[in-house]
Amino acid sequence: MHLKTLTLRGFKSFASATTLSFEPGVTCVVGPNGSGKSNVVDALAWVMGEQGAKSLRGGKMEDVIFAGTAGRPPLGRAEVALTIDNTDGALPIEYTEVTISRTLFRNGGSEYAINGQGCRLLDIQDLLSDSGLGREMHVIVGQGQLDAVLRATPEERRGFIEEAAGVLKHRKRKEKALRKLDAMQANLTRLGDLTAEIR
Ligand code: ATP
Repeated sequence: MHLKTLTLRGFKSFASATTLSFEPGVTCVVGPNGSGKSNVVDALAWVMGEQGAKSLRGGKMEDVIFAGTAGRPPLGRAEVALTIDNTDGALPIEYTEVTISRTLFRNGGSEYAINGQGCRLLDIQDLLSDSGLGREMHVIVGQGQLDAVLRATPEERRGFIEEAAGVLKHRKRKEKALRKLDAMQANLTRLGDLTAEIR
C-alpha cells in the first residue's frame, strides 16, 4: 500500500486544483517559508478524518477553506482527495486503487466519499483503521511532536510505539468488551436478586 496522489482544491493556500503524485519510497516536499508545505500535510490529515481544527493549525474548521488573497476572492468550499494504491489488499475493500475524499462547504455542510460513493466519516475511519493509517495512529508527526518523542520518558515512548503498531485499536476494543462485561454482570446481579425475591 502506498499513497499515489493527493489533490487539493480550495484547501488553505491551494485555491486552484493541485495534484501531488507520490512514488513508492521517500518523498520530500521543499519550498520557501509559507509556501504551503505544512498545508499539504494538513490536507493528508484532514482527508483521513481529522476533526480537530487546532491539529490543522486553525481556530475553526472553516479555516481550511481558501480565505482569499489580494487578487483572488475566497472560495465556498475545500476539497481534498487521496488516492491509495491497494494492490496488496492492505485496505479491506475489493479495489486495487482507493480514493477517499472530503469536502467542506462554508455553510458548514460536509461530504465524504470512498471511490466516488458518498459515505460517512465512520466508514473512512473504519476503512483506514486496520491499515495503520488514520487518526490517532501517529502516522503524521508534526514538528513539535518530534521534540515530544525525543523528550518522552521510556513509558511514554512505549505508548507511541504501541499506538503506531496498532495496539491502540485492540486496547479500545478490550475497553469496550470490558464495559459490556460490566453491564452483563450488573444484569446478572439484578437477575439473582429477582430470583431470590421470587423464591
Ligand atoms: P514553513 O516552512 O514556514 O513551515 P510552510 O511551507 O509549511 O512554511 P504553510 O504553513 O503550509 O507553509 O503555509 C502557510 C501559508 O498558507 C500562509 O501564507 C497562509 O496565509 C496560507 N493559508 C493558510 N490557510 C489559508 C486559507 N484558509 N486561505 C488562504 N491561505 C491560507
